[in-house]
Amino acid sequence: MNQLRVDLHMHSHCSDGALSPSELMQRASEKGVELIALTDHDTLAGLTEARGEADKLNMAFVSGIELSSRWGKIGVHIVGLGFESTHPAMAELVRKQGERRRCRNQKIGAKLAKIGVQDAYRRARELAGAEPGRPHFAELLVQDGRVPDVSRAFKKYLGSGKSCDIKLLWPPMVEVVDAINGAGGVAVLAHPAKYGLTRTKLRALVADFSAAGGSAMELVSGMQPSGVAENLAAIAAEFGLEASLGSDFHRPGAAWQELGCATHLPEGARAVWHRWQ
Ligand code: MN
Ligand code: MN
Ligand code: MN
Repeated sequence: MNQLRVDLHMHSHCSDGALSPSELMQRASEKGVELIALTDHDTLAGLTEARGEADKLNMAFVSGIELSSRWGKIGVHIVGLGFESTHPAMAELVRKQGERRRCRNQKIGAKLAKIGVQDAYRRARELAGAEPGRPHFAELLVQDGRVPDVSRAFKKYLGSGKSCDIKLLWPPMVEVVDAINGAGGVAVLAHPAKYGLTRTKLRALVADFSAAGGSAMELVSGMQPSGVAENLAAIAAEFGLEASLGSDFHRPGAAWQELGCATHLPEGARAVWHRWQ
């Protein structure tokens, strides 16, 4: 069977990935990917470069982003695909997401200053080469010799409920779905199996996502245990959602998240990418 190799979820160094958008496209091409989307966290910064490189490599390129949102108190990631990347609805949402991140990072910096870690925000920014995330602050604590490793930094300072933990209040899921739809895109519920929800809760999430105007969900996210995609496919079918897939690649070396590694949709699933083929 001649199946199109698709990867619609990955990160470059414009968010928390290791490769530049061009390097990412080159690696994907080497892995045989034919239809691709770059989906950095809450930023569109890598899209122009990635599209240019994908064009050169003859890969079909779809605009993408992975947006942070919340469903009640639960953090949920929504992938936007195929939107108009200069649309004001998307630009405005991305601007607000950035502001939320900066605001939290400044507060984390202030908390760390109180325990004697100077200049943490500026240093974390330098380390990240972009707006930092909590792992970058954790890395600083390791560099300063406060903790032996990143996981200890979370356990002692940055993790949930610890002294330097600042909650980030992301917008409700429906707001994010609205912006994606408003910009002419398709909203995809990212890696539904990774939220640690019971099947009942997951069905409730998918019901709300669908009612909010969501179009598809990822049935395959990287390499996953057998049966996961089939279980998700049943829920997707129940709510009339299409199917997406992606590696969620961040850096070389993690074989279960390698570019192009997520391939087959379960029998009967309707692929979200039929519109870009
Ligand atoms: Mn990430
Ligand atoms: Mn995610
Ligand atoms: Mn991701």
